[in-house]
Amino acid sequence: MNRPKEAVTPVGMELLMFYPCPHSGHKVPVLAPLQPATVRCDLCGGQFSVVPVDAKSVRFFKAMMAGGPGGIDGDYIG
Ligand SMILES: [Zn+2]
Repeated sequence: MNRPKEAVTPVGMELLMFYPCPHSGHKVPVLAPLQPATVRCDLCGGQFSVVPVDAKSVRFFKAMMAGGPGGIDGDYIG
């Protein structure tokens, strides 16, 4: 595996959730909302409310990947 010397590793991460727009059916990407929120569809512009995600689950996923660095391809470690 050729790892470019200048390649950088992630120092943070977020969970991206997809919510189906009730107006167009488009799957709208939303950074995991921890509170009920209103989002705007990036396809049709329609607004709709989304159910929040569980904060404990988000913390769990982030912990599993050490906040990002722990999730990199093993071939690139070292
Ligand atoms: Zn839409």
